[in-house]
Amino acid sequence: MRIATMGGTADLLSRHHFTIRKKFGQNFLVDPSKVEGIVDSAELTKEDAVLEIGPGLGGMTQLLSERAGSVTAVEIDKELIPILKESLKDCGNVDIVNADILKFDPKAYAEEKGIKSFKVVANLPYYITTPILMHLLEGDAPLKSITVMVQKEVAERMRSGPGTKDYGALSLAVQYRAKPTTVCTVPPECFIPRPNVDSAVVRLDLYETPPVSAADPARMKRIIRAAFNQRRKTLANALSADPALGVSREAVQQALISMGLDERVRGETLTLERFAELSDRLDSPSSL
Ligand code: SAM
Repeated sequence: MRIATMGGTADLLSRHHFTIRKKFGQNFLVDPSKVEGIVDSAELTKEDAVLEIGPGLGGMTQLLSERAGSVTAVEIDKELIPILKESLKDCGNVDIVNADILKFDPKAYAEEKGIKSFKVVANLPYYITTPILMHLLEGDAPLKSITVMVQKEVAERMRSGPGTKDYGALSLAVQYRAKPTTVCTVPPECFIPRPNVDSAVVRLDLYETPPVSAADPARMKRIIRAAFNQRRKTLANALSADPALGVSREAVQQALISMGLDERVRGETLTLERFAELSDRLDSPSSL
């Protein structure tokens, strides 16, 4: 029986007396054509190992299991585990893991199971979309692609460039690791219960080598975070306010001037390339 339909979902929920939990961002997809669209856009083959975050009732997991070689489905809500065991009983290639994805280490799991790399596919819980994406992008898990349903405005943040209101630390973290493409938009009627926002599916194809090279990528990321933590401040003020960076306002101003920039610029005007250059210049004051 297909779960990702109005009838299939209603039946499972009532038979298991399951109360949907808002605190876990539970909005189940009940439009089979959208589920198919997401899974199609991940372009899976039987060679692929999928990491699904938040399988919920298992609606999308059923289709992932048919298309991929294996599926690791990480679900935080322990009340959903018996339901998943029932709905996925015929899917022998699915491993259901009851864990918080933010505490789950995909690299260690992949090594233990002999998995070379994952394709992540998920209808993400919206209350922690950004932390989950950061966990995946900033960790060292072997990932080929990430195909996820997110709030439409988060999809826009991932793709936006300098000088726009949506541009920020998430845009740069995504664009440093991957090429983002919006697959489709999804209206609230496709979920039970309906979210208060429009949704979009985004596919991120991970680069083998990043599009820019910074001598110390971790330091560049720290600089980016500091720049957008204090978005309204000038870059020189924002970076010098972060003790972990150990740079003075004057050093940042000098570095910006040596890059041909105004010493009063804000982080939101710098491209990824410029952040990499700034990071290198702040690392080696002799190059100022
Ligand atoms: N995949 C299902 C679907 O498309 O119908 C459910 C998607 S629902 C938007 C998000 C799912 O993520 C829920 O099942 C929720 O319990 C689970 N979840 C929430 N926080 C999580 C976390 N930190 N780690 C793993 N799963 C989480």
